[in-house]
Amino acid sequence: MSDALEHIKALIIGSGPAGYTAAIYAARADLKPVVYTGLEPGGQLTTTTEVDNFPGYPDGVDGPTMMVQLQQQAERFGTDVRIGMATAVEFSREVGGLHRVTIDDNKQVFAETVIISTGATAKYLGLPSEQRLRGGGVSACAVCDGFFYKGQDVAIVGGGDTAAEEATYLANICNKVTMLVRKDHMRASKAMQHRVTSTPNIDLRYDTEIDEVLGDMVVEGLRMVNNQTGEKEEISITGLFIAIGHKPNTDIFKGLLDMDDAGYLLTDGKSTKTNMPGVFASGDVQDKEYRQAVTAAGTGCMAALDAERYLATIETPA
Ligand code: NDP
Repeated sequence: MSDALEHIKALIIGSGPAGYTAAIYAARADLKPVVYTGLEPGGQLTTTTEVDNFPGYPDGVDGPTMMVQLQQQAERFGTDVRIGMATAVEFSREVGGLHRVTIDDNKQVFAETVIISTGATAKYLGLPSEQRLRGGGVSACAVCDGFFYKGQDVAIVGGGDTAAEEATYLANICNKVTMLVRKDHMRASKAMQHRVTSTPNIDLRYDTEIDEVLGDMVVEGLRMVNNQTGEKEEISITGLFIAIGHKPNTDIFKGLLDMDDAGYLLTDGKSTKTNMPGVFASGDVQDKEYRQAVTAAGTGCMAALDAERYLATIETPA
């Protein structure tokens, strides 16, 4: 039965910039890569509008277009792109062993190397008004979308390092940034907190949460509530940034691959090697700090090169 399973040289799980860049390099190295796209083909960038910070696009590019182009570039060199979700894995601990991956709970394949590029998912508050206005002024990435609110009033939610960093980033571009922190203190490092409190156009509100995001088609304002006094206040804003953390998509690897407390995959030094031979990780699934399309693409390239070198060593043992 298992002899009949498809045997893949380089299996890439995930289809964001990391996955497709790994595919481009793996295909050009004749590793005949297969990409399983996951539930959101193209990854997080397909939920972004304009991408202005990826080098090589002087006029910017919209996220979905960029992902289609990356897919086409990977296919040009023979990548087999398939719609499907990896739902279970059994990794071999032996160098040169085959890894078994289950797709959509019903199909299994064998892979000599696996490149995990499953990304991370931004957390949202879950308020109906927030969900309705996603793409209409509600964003989870200030570095991606902040520029569209140049000179305008915006708000940001969160009290961690990301929120602090993004609030100061936005304060450089926008007229005013209202920062909502649900506790009476921030979780961010002291240095980051200092940056926030010393930036004059950040209006920092502790003990404050969102009651409702206002606006029909686009964000027009925010009704905030002080969770200690119950007092509500409305402000006018055009952009709302949610910075309450990300969840790496690593549930199926729990107990198999080394990860940090938040579930991000750990890699060996500057490489993309995980603790399993022949299994590599690239993109946001192993990076909670930079999380940019261009850095994800860079580590996708590294993962394909690491996979190629690994295959070379097992095919030609020393
Ligand atoms: P964190 O988990 O550190 O912080 C999340 C923040 O969002 C907390 O303030 C939390 O509040 C708040 N929050 C969570 N859920 C809600 C909610 N439903 N409503 C309102 N607020 C909410 O995530 P980050 O993305 O900030 O950071 C992730 C990791 O990356 C951290 O280890 C961080 O240090 C690191 N990082 C480092 C950077 C750097 O060094 N330059 C830059 C960015 C990130 P509460 O405190 O009340 O739980």
